[in-house]
Amino acid sequence: MTLTNEEVLKIFSETEALLNGHFLLTSGRHSNVYFQCAKVLQHPKYTKLICSNLVEHFKDMSIETVIAPAMGGLIVGYEIARQLNARFIFTEREDKIMQLRRGFSLQKNERVLICEDVVTTGGSVFEVIDIVKKFEAEIVGVAYIVDRSNGKVNFGYEQKSVLALDAVSFPADDCKLCNEAIPLVKPGSRKVLSA
Ligand code: ZN
Repeated sequence: MTLTNEEVLKIFSETEALLNGHFLLTSGRHSNVYFQCAKVLQHPKYTKLICSNLVEHFKDMSIETVIAPAMGGLIVGYEIARQLNARFIFTEREDKIMQLRRGFSLQKNERVLICEDVVTTGGSVFEVIDIVKKFEAEIVGVAYIVDRSNGKVNFGYEQKSVLALDAVSFPADDCKLCNEAIPLVKPGSRKVLSA
């Protein structure tokens, strides 16, 4: 089954993965939207449903292996691999360099799907693409839950997200939401920082 946009948004808001308001981001900027993918992925039943949208898109492409960058991509990648009946491996950083460890490897021409939870600049995914290319495996596509790139990221392969999030952020000293006197909230604390 495939979830509609409305159904996906309903799950995100019920699990408080997606909040609308005025938020202090970890970067220090202020935003009208806060999204924490882990809040929805903590529920296997929702993870299964949301990932099924991506599986639907890639299911006839003979994917042999799903690969994802840790930490963000682990749960999504594993669930998608499970539904595709494929193998799952992950990359991780050591000394800041993304790599395959733990004896994981890829075969030449092996058909690979790259998965991630949230794509903003796509940095981690591009690093995984480089790793897969070194093994001369075949990248079939890139699947991710939320696109926060405002349509900017182009991986150069078939790419599919469940939802594109339309979010804006402002520097703390020049914030439209502050000017509108909307209370500022630090996500996770439920604390109102200003009124
Ligand atoms: Zn603000």
